[in-house]
Amino acid sequence: MKFATKALHAGIEPDPSTGAIMTPIFQTSTYVQDGPGIHKGYEYARTHNPTRDALENNIAALENAKFGRCFASGMSATETVIKTLRPGDEVISTGDLYGGSFRLFTQIFEAFGIKFTFVDMRDPQKVEEIINEETKLIWVETPTNPLLNIIDIEKISAIAHKHGAKVAVDNTFASPYLQNPLNQGADIVMHSVTKYIAGHSDVIMGFLGTNDPEIDNAFGFIQNSSGAVPGPQDCFLVLRGIKTLHLRMQRHCENGEVIANYLRNHPNVEKVYWPGFEDHPNHDIAKKQMNGFGGMISFMQKEDTIEQAESTLSKFKLFSLAESLGGVESLVGHPSGMTHASIPKEKRIVGGLTDSLIRLSVGIEDVDDLIADLKQAIE
Ligand code: PLP
Repeated sequence: MKFATKALHAGIEPDPSTGAIMTPIFQTSTYVQDGPGIHKGYEYARTHNPTRDALENNIAALENAKFGRCFASGMSATETVIKTLRPGDEVISTGDLYGGSFRLFTQIFEAFGIKFTFVDMRDPQKVEEIINEETKLIWVETPTNPLLNIIDIEKISAIAHKHGAKVAVDNTFASPYLQNPLNQGADIVMHSVTKYIAGHSDVIMGFLGTNDPEIDNAFGFIQNSSGAVPGPQDCFLVLRGIKTLHLRMQRHCENGEVIANYLRNHPNVEKVYWPGFEDHPNHDIAKKQMNGFGGMISFMQKEDTIEQAESTLSKFKLFSLAESLGGVESLVGHPSGMTHASIPKEKRIVGGLTDSLIRLSVGIEDVDDLIADLKQAIE
């Protein structure tokens, strides 16, 4: 099945008891058993829920994963991956990454004896130089948040596997429509479902997919033991959102391209970060591993001061100033003061995340209206 058909049908059967075409919201914590241990496959809702099962199977199909599991948030999905490690294990992570992932790694898991090293993975050789016997996991985010760097999943996976390490890819910025990391050799794909997959800014959720039954068993054990599971109502909303994921992504990409080019040609704009530009440092890799370049764009104005950024941010009318991304409506954010505030400034600016950087999550509105809003804000 192709993507659009999978989005609508994969993992979803009409409800056997009523024929309801939409997966019902099974709002129950437990299931009646005919005798001790004699049940219909469901015992307790932390372990299994039919609405969640349908969603897990659906997203797994979109990621070409044999197994999929949903979590209460993107962060609880990420946490589940790290919880499979043990004290003394080492993780090599992308340097430019979501601030919350950096905070989880350094402020929670380092205290449990797991070591994290952050490198610029645009050059895979840098991973080859530091990978060692203790390295058990490579954490890749591509495109990165917020600088839209592109990392070669295939090359990083080959290096990791040569050294016996696994690769997990945070695929949030691309969505399964634009990129399927397992096809490129990664072992685990992670999503903040909150973003493009749910797509309507009304749910917090995470996802992990893999083709490896051992990895999936470990995720299932942690999912059930730690209990960070999403509720059935949220699973229903995401199932509903996914039915238009392909259409939304097409419009995000179209609008993103128009806006990236508009910004690039504007005299008040110094630099635009968007992987669709032919001179983007890893454009060729983006072309190889993605089906489009998405609607996430960051830019720096000619006057590179925090005051200039704040003044511009205060002028937007259609783009809403808010954390998050990937919803149908356009958002604007200030990474250094918002999503990435937990990364120390000296670390941020090395990679280019300056105080004046502005990040756009381009929505699916009419692009002429979005351009008009941008124009009045940056002029
Ligand atoms: N990964 C990326 C790239 C993100 O942008 C975010 C949230 O902004 C997360 C992970 C965390 O996901 P959640 O907010 O659903 O916990």
